[in-house]
Amino acid sequence: MTVKYKEPAPIVDHLNPLDSMMERFSEAAEILGLDESTYNSLKSPEKTVAVSLPVTMDNGKIEVFEGYRVVHSSKLGPSKGGIRYAPSVNLDEVKALAAWMTWKCAVVGIPYGGAKGGIKCNPREMSVGELERLTRSYTVAMSDIFGPEKDIPAPDMGTNPQIMAWIMDEYSKLKGVASPAVVTGKPLVLGGSLGRVEATGRGVMVSARTAMGKLKINPAKSTVAVQGFGNVGSISAKLMALQGCKIVAISDISGAYYNVKGIDIDEAIAYLKNYSDTLEGYKGAEKITNEELLTLNADVLIPAALEDQITEKNASKIQAKLIVEGANGPTASNADKILNEKGIIVVPDILANAGGVSVSYFEWVQNRLGYFWTEERVNRRADRIMKQAFETVYAASLKYDVSMRIAAYIVAIDKVASTRQLRGTY
Ligand code: GLU
Repeated sequence: MTVKYKEPAPIVDHLNPLDSMMERFSEAAEILGLDESTYNSLKSPEKTVAVSLPVTMDNGKIEVFEGYRVVHSSKLGPSKGGIRYAPSVNLDEVKALAAWMTWKCAVVGIPYGGAKGGIKCNPREMSVGELERLTRSYTVAMSDIFGPEKDIPAPDMGTNPQIMAWIMDEYSKLKGVASPAVVTGKPLVLGGSLGRVEATGRGVMVSARTAMGKLKINPAKSTVAVQGFGNVGSISAKLMALQGCKIVAISDISGAYYNVKGIDIDEAIAYLKNYSDTLEGYKGAEKITNEELLTLNADVLIPAALEDQITEKNASKIQAKLIVEGANGPTASNADKILNEKGIIVVPDILANAGGVSVSYFEWVQNRLGYFWTEERVNRRADRIMKQAFETVYAASLKYDVSMRIAAYIVAIDKVASTRQLRGTY
């Protein structure tokens, strides 16, 4: 029996990424004719863990932080997904991000389910010692959830290879065995993979190039605006520039920066590293607002910052022909229809930013083999995964006559649903 799914309407003035995820999931499920029990089993996470983490701060006071780990699905394999440190972390966001990891891993065909973790904290205001104690405390609290064959964390917003090193160390101590494969995105000397730091940005570039090929956009004559200048945004910008594209705008928490002649991305990255933690004061471009960046006259827009940046409020003003989602959930579901009607092609997050988790998979494979690959091999295999996944999603979008986003959900849900069917339920 096929059922009509209608989730509660999203609260428009208070966008919730979980609503956005559920809307697309429901639409794709309906097109696929998913039966009700499968729908119900895939819509809720398998496991939701919330912990309180007391940490002694440098001033001697004890602060208690909220921490989460949500395992959305382990149908395709051990669950995989990053850990986010940000003041805005909340359970609905972590649930949405965990489900996106399930769909993402399924879209690119790597043998993982999806999970996500988060701690509500402000890492920019914490010392190295405080971050280390918080991370170790979180690892202890999650030691029965994590595991090389169970659930494998990685970096996400606000976390980095050093934090992954503490997780690996704490987990290994607790279990009494060296367990590099419990976490990915580690520093190279601890069993990290060559190419992992650049992997998400590289996948964004490969997705953008493939889509530009379909749209007949010549990179050498194209302009690109990139929102966000963290790991994903800065590497995407750098690699797009290397493809010959002109990067006309970039942004970070200090604001957006525009230069019609093109921004020297290496210079901007060097500025960030040498002078400050942000682009504040960067002289290579004129300052504009974040809203202006999103609606600039550029061929390609790469939102690589936060969720819900493109909404029904600004979608009609977007001028780009192509949007390639470096961030998770940068487009609220209420903007989808507007973008479709304008004929803007969106390479969705669960496809476009899957390069990171693909190389995480390679890191895990290398850890388990105890044998390490060259960067050339990592990149070649990751590029192949991204191109193949793009073609699969593109073909599904033609077959079902839907957007690339709904096509990606269809491909992913179909795979997870058939695995569930084969594994059975009692
Ligand atoms: N946090 C990244 C993502 O959202 C990477 C996850 C991973 O490598 O497990 O895709």
